[in-house]
Amino acid sequence: MINFKQLVNEYKTPLYVYDLDYMTSQYNALKGAFKGKKSLLAYAVKANSNLSVVKHFADLGAGADCVSIGEVRRAFLAGIPNYKIIFSGVGKSDDEIREAIEKDILYINVESEAELGRVELIAKELNTSCRISIRVNPNIDPKTHPYISTGLHANKFGVDLNTAKRMYIFANNSQNLDPIGIHFHIGSQLTQLDPIRESAEIVADLIRSLASIKIELKFFDIGGGLGVQYKDEKTILPYDYAQAIFSTLTALDLTIVCEPGRFLTANAGYFLTKVLYEKQNGDKKFVIVDGAMNDLIRPALYNAYHKIEAITESVLEPRKVDIVGPVCESGDFFAKDYLLPELAHNDILVIHSAGSYGFGMGSNYNTRGRSAEVAVQDGKARLIRRRESFEDIIALELEFLQN
Ligand SMILES: *Cc1c(COP(=O)(O)O)cnc(C)c1O
Repeated sequence: MINFKQLVNEYKTPLYVYDLDYMTSQYNALKGAFKGKKSLLAYAVKANSNLSVVKHFADLGAGADCVSIGEVRRAFLAGIPNYKIIFSGVGKSDDEIREAIEKDILYINVESEAELGRVELIAKELNTSCRISIRVNPNIDPKTHPYISTGLHANKFGVDLNTAKRMYIFANNSQNLDPIGIHFHIGSQLTQLDPIRESAEIVADLIRSLASIKIELKFFDIGGGLGVQYKDEKTILPYDYAQAIFSTLTALDLTIVCEPGRFLTANAGYFLTKVLYEKQNGDKKFVIVDGAMNDLIRPALYNAYHKIEAITESVLEPRKVDIVGPVCESGDFFAKDYLLPELAHNDILVIHSAGSYGFGMGSNYNTRGRSAEVAVQDGKARLIRRRESFEDIIALELEFLQN
């Protein structure tokens, strides 16, 4: 049990807290499910990109799935070796591609024909050959929130099967491209196995068809997306997930690459905030707290549910409240019509499942400094990012202020 009160006394609020031991157990559960086959878990750095978190996964043997050169640099800084780093994303710039090639990462996940052309050209300029994988869009509905659905032709990600095949033939004939993998990632917070199995089948068929024309791939990259329980969702068990993937790979000898983000970190994280005031507007009761949408935007962005627990002396009956922050937007809420007892100034609210897409989506909106981040491991807490000060926020503008 993490002593939230003690952490708040020491580090103040708003505060992110990450349970690294929970991350370890999630990593081991997923890695264990792929036992008996060659596999690489490439942690999706964007889910929680704190250097100490990435280093924690590096120490466990994870690779990294990165979606910007900044994330690639983070992965290196955190100690992930080049041969475990993947670079994905629909819009890589020339500079990003160049640096990824120079750093000799495992492969670049290419997401369009135009990008493949740029990668070839840059590899040629560098007088080398670039290992690539192609992101296939299997046109499968992942049955998740539309903002985090990525495997339909209506989404911007990947290429269709025919285009992928054409791209593999092109790459195979190029001196400067080395096609070694295939990739799909149909969405995030997936709670149904069928869309994953169907996508894997479609992609595995393409692998076989490429093998028949002597294009032999080594890496089967099944993306991330494994869902977690925020409220009462039924989630996919790692064992069932792995078995579903295995079932599509008969007679194929490939290394399975998986890119989990949320699965590893979401439920390891807590966002702690203090109650400032309660207030009544007509029938509506508001609890105003010191954290805001600039700290944790998921409720505002996706109407996401986060379990909220109050640490309070209050023994009064819970009533329905909206839990809101100080930011000047009506979208600045953590929950609506949520049952909490009457709260006092400085009571602590623990917002659960905040370890993924929490801090990383934060901003300085309303000139609010980003929260501090704390890691808890073996019962000990340590600061892994200090709270942003006003001076931090203003630094990049101050030097340009004219008088
Ligand atoms: C975001 C992303 C992931 C991680 O998704 P989760 O839902 O957090 O597991 C993996 N791969 C790619 C390409 C992504 O864009």
